[in-house]
Amino acid sequence: MKIGLIPLVRKEIEGEILESIRKHLEGFYSQFGFNVEILPETTIKDLFFSYNSTREQFLGRFFLMKVAEIKGIKRLSAGLGITDADLYEEGMNFIFGLANPYLKSAIISLARLKPTFYGERDGKLLKERAIKEAMHEMGHVFGLEHCLNPKCVMHFSNSIIDTDYKGKDYCEKCLNTLKRNLG
Ligand SMILES: [Zn+2]
Ligand SMILES: [Zn+2]
Repeated sequence: MKIGLIPLVRKEIEGEILESIRKHLEGFYSQFGFNVEILPETTIKDLFFSYNSTREQFLGRFFLMKVAEIKGIKRLSAGLGITDADLYEEGMNFIFGLANPYLKSAIISLARLKPTFYGERDGKLLKERAIKEAMHEMGHVFGLEHCLNPKCVMHFSNSIIDTDYKGKDYCEKCLNTLKRNLG
């Protein structure tokens, strides 16, 4: 069983970030029999129709559909898109990510995880944040809902402050649900 990481590249996504996400996801999801593999980069040229020039953002659902399409072609168990494009959904100023359990697909955006977006210095923050958002969206893919525990990775992030506060892992309650769903 394979989880595919699909880089949907607008400008650039560092290989080191992809590898950090891959390593953490595999470290966790291998207990359920999953391998995690980084797929070749895909450009987002065919997603420019979803660009809103007033907001300077892309509509996230189309990125999710693209991931689902590639997931089908590559016969993956699940697909996680990773993009450097800034995403939004109707009624939201922005989204860190989006998931669909029926499509077994998810997307995360690195745009607002980058420390430079907040005028912070870089360091290891981007990696930490990307891992958390990846774990969060994969949790949704495998049927988890949002969790009230602010330290649980399934806690909803309204802003980067929530993302930085929460941990990289599922709380005991979410973990038990996941074991039921994947067992
Ligand atoms: Zn969520
Ligand atoms: Zn939880």
